[in-house]
Amino acid sequence: MKGELKLSILGSGAAFSEIGHNSAHLVDRKLLLDCGAPVTSLLPGLGGSVGELEAILITHFHGDHVIHLPTLLVARRLQHPEASPLRLIGPPGLLRHLKVLGETAFGTGLWSRIESQDGPLWARVEEWEDGRSGEVAGYEVEAISVIHSPELECLGYRIAIPGVSLGYTGDTTYCPGLLRLARSVDHLLCECTSFSGPQPTHLWGEEVAALMREIPSLRLILTHLNERRPLPGALLASDGLSVTLRGCAEG
Ligand SMILES: [Zn+2]
Repeated sequence: MKGELKLSILGSGAAFSEIGHNSAHLVDRKLLLDCGAPVTSLLPGLGGSVGELEAILITHFHGDHVIHLPTLLVARRLQHPEASPLRLIGPPGLLRHLKVLGETAFGTGLWSRIESQDGPLWARVEEWEDGRSGEVAGYEVEAISVIHSPELECLGYRIAIPGVSLGYTGDTTYCPGLLRLARSVDHLLCECTSFSGPQPTHLWGEEVAALMREIPSLRLILTHLNERRPLPGALLASDGLSVTLRGCAEG
């Protein structure tokens, strides 16, 4: 429906969380945000399948955000050969990382055989940088750099249709990119790795609360969790949760 986004949580846990799968989130059953959870087996529980996916936005190359990509791609290629190539968007280096992941997961047998038959990764790999925007799976998408880990680039994304917009932080610290992203959206799917104290490469509850004070109209859904503590005004993600998002003006 115009003006609504359906957000489903496949993985709400931080990298070493005991309360949820690693990061993966689904918009309208066709756009996947990170691929750290076993998406292939989780999608049917939400009425979806890997064959329906149109695009995946990857925030960065830590395992809890990308580890399931090879399985998803091979499953789609073998079980849904009629599906058109996925658009796979992430920071610079995505193609190289994906090749390493795929060859590690499936060796020079399956992965390389499909690659040689169908071209590089039978997916449209696009390496985006800060500020790049364009149409993806019917959404207006913009990549925004955030600061997470010093050794690698991390992108957040703004995803919009007329009437409603959603931001996804990936992993981030309290940085200018986070504020830029948060100010540009109605809803923010925001990492919150700790509630008990500051984290060197992540957000914690006090910083999320500060973000909410800074932008009172912003509606937050907290993910990348190690525990679930109530934070007034924010929704805590949990695996299997689905929510319908509407623009702030529509209540
Ligand atoms: Zn992470």
